[in-house]
Amino acid sequence: YGFSPRGGELPITTSSGGVNPPCGNAALRICGGTRRRCRCWRQEVFFMSHTAELIAVGTELLLGNIANTDAQMLSQGLSALGINVYYHTVVGDNPQRLRAAVELAKSRADILITTGGLGPTCDDLTKNVLAECFGKKLVFHAPSARRIEAYFERLHAGRPMTENNYQQAMLPEGCTVLDNDWGTAPGVAFEADGVRVIMLPGPPRECRAMFTHRVIPYLKSLADGVIVSRTLKLFGIGESSMEAQLREEMEAMTNPTLAPYAKEGECELRITAKAADEEAARALIAPVEERLRARFGPLIYGADVPSLEAAVFQLLKEKGLTLGCAESCTGGLIAKRMTDLSGVSAVFRGGVVSYATEVKHTVLGVDQALLDEFGAVSEPVARAMAEGARRVLGCDLAVASTGVAGPDPDERGNPVGLVYLALAAPDGTWVRKIQQGLGRERVRHVSASHGFDLARRYLSGLEVK
Ligand code: ATP
Repeated sequence: YGFSPRGGELPITTSSGGVNPPCGNAALRICGGTRRRCRCWRQEVFFMSHTAELIAVGTELLLGNIANTDAQMLSQGLSALGINVYYHTVVGDNPQRLRAAVELAKSRADILITTGGLGPTCDDLTKNVLAECFGKKLVFHAPSARRIEAYFERLHAGRPMTENNYQQAMLPEGCTVLDNDWGTAPGVAFEADGVRVIMLPGPPRECRAMFTHRVIPYLKSLADGVIVSRTLKLFGIGESSMEAQLREEMEAMTNPTLAPYAKEGECELRITAKAADEEAARALIAPVEERLRARFGPLIYGADVPSLEAAVFQLLKEKGLTLGCAESCTGGLIAKRMTDLSGVSAVFRGGVVSYATEVKHTVLGVDQALLDEFGAVSEPVARAMAEGARRVLGCDLAVASTGVAGPDPDERGNPVGLVYLALAAPDGTWVRKIQQGLGRERVRHVSASHGFDLARRYLSGLEVK
């Protein structure tokens, strides 16, 4: 990860090395090498020992006019690098309050990332305040000025650029300029007082691109060696149960480290290793992954795969099989999640949203006697829906859902969250009954995931249950 910044160091380099004694731990170089900021009691821990803080600048955020999606994106990205984010702050376009937020962040984080307030107008004050807080002068950066002129010309050909746009080319002395190919205001990175300061533009499209293409390489370049992560995805186990099983092991681990995450009814285990090169890092990860696979076995549906449905898509492709669905309580969500994946037409035949009982009978051919005797939310009906979908859609496998998404129980008194999922295949049909105490949206999402999990188990040759 040799860092070759697009923009480079400013020629006037007076970047402060920090006022604290050196840490002496080369692996922690990213934090500026000061003892105050290193968590030296865990010598081997690298990024994990760093704490980042995010400050979003903008009055419209405080007014609730827009949501702080930059912070969400940055937090996700930093945690993927193994960097802890302990605080998010939002401040308006007010220099005193921004100064106070920066001083607080300085006292408790090694990496400070700001978003917004880099533009040309007088309320864009981030650079001025940050430069002041870290004792830096703003100096004119001619290459950035030329880039801004060129960007302006591309966007507003023939219209003269107003003087205030040059304000965006005033950058803290000694900083690394993070060229902005997606907007006008350049990003900025520098180290001072033991803190790595990074300033990014506010517009989400620019912020995301700058983080991906400028900040990640920059952060990686500051660490010795490379950081490699591998994420195992699990379905069918709760986060607390997973964590309880792994707590001791996780606490004892330093390199690689292991971090659990829970989201949308699923769990993730991220193994992060640091080594001189990628091969060595992967060699550190492999035995940990092996141990986790031995422990959690069939609950792991993939490594570094984006989602359960993506895992199913991959398996269908490998086996040359097709899938269809018949959905009641998930209302098309299974089909939606499937068709969100590009290229899925090769394996996905389609779906029937058979919400009304009558449609289950007339379109899917569910026997009226079953509907009358057991009701729409029942194991026999789920089974018949899946088998009907296989027939009607002409697919190899079909998933069906029928249940009570809420907020009220159904007319037979079935409770909210009771859902039957079925999988019909050439060699049999299986039904899974689940009961979740969640809101309507979660019930539907988790139910769809259970449907995918049935297909995933079947396609992987695991016991379907
Ligand atoms: P510009 O050069 O466009 O002025 P900037 O870096 O000065 O960019 P702001 O002026 O603070 O950024 O914000 C520009 C727009 O970006 C805002 O109107 C808002 O729509 C969006 N934005 C700013 N901050 C955030 C944030 N934290 N999350 C989501 N959107 C944001």
